[in-house]
Amino acid sequence: MIDAGTGLATLSLSEMHRIRHIFLTHAHMDHIAALPTFLSNQFEQPNLPVKVYGLAETLQRLKRNIFNDEIWPDFTKAIGSATAVVELVELKAGERIEHEGMLIEPFAVQHKIPTVGYSVRSEHLHYVFCADCTESAQLVTDLNRLAPIDVLMIECAFPDRLTEVAEKTQHMTPAMLQRTLLQVQDIKHVWVTHLKPSYESELRQTLSDGPWTIL
Ligand SMILES: [Zn+2]
Ligand SMILES: [Zn+2]
Repeated sequence: MIDAGTGLATLSLSEMHRIRHIFLTHAHMDHIAALPTFLSNQFEQPNLPVKVYGLAETLQRLKRNIFNDEIWPDFTKAIGSATAVVELVELKAGERIEHEGMLIEPFAVQHKIPTVGYSVRSEHLHYVFCADCTESAQLVTDLNRLAPIDVLMIECAFPDRLTEVAEKTQHMTPAMLQRTLLQVQDIKHVWVTHLKPSYESELRQTLSDGPWTIL
């Protein structure tokens, strides 16, 4: 699974118990919101620890601010005779790892805090998740380097009238997204995600006739 936002909290307990690997893009709350309760629900379950992967900066933020025995237990340590619930595994941008028949490559994207997107290659599918990011020459270079891409999932958080806010918070607007995609070759399907709820209907209207699917 990539990221642990509010969607994770909608899964049943048995579905949660089947998840054993979570790849984090960054430490912003909307991407880790369900992680604390997800991990406490794993206590005493088989096949522990759950592995949570991320940049060193992401894992440090989790340890310092959440799993600090103040806000939430430090689940990296065994509690009583039970096995530790989680193992934090550091990833570096550009370092490929093989995982259950997939080749996973985290790549750095420009956002307010250190963030990676993930390229996930399996035998028949190349999926790229851009995470939270803003427009950058590096993103265009990376997407062209990673292409051909079957499915690109990319964000569009703010409408164009809030370009200044998007620049400050390092997110995308429809115009930024369009400029980025015009410079990238060989992407079969684009899925647009991360529409901020307050602007969702406005963004859906603006994005409605583009060459993408809005999630
Ligand atoms: Zn973010
Ligand atoms: Zn976000």
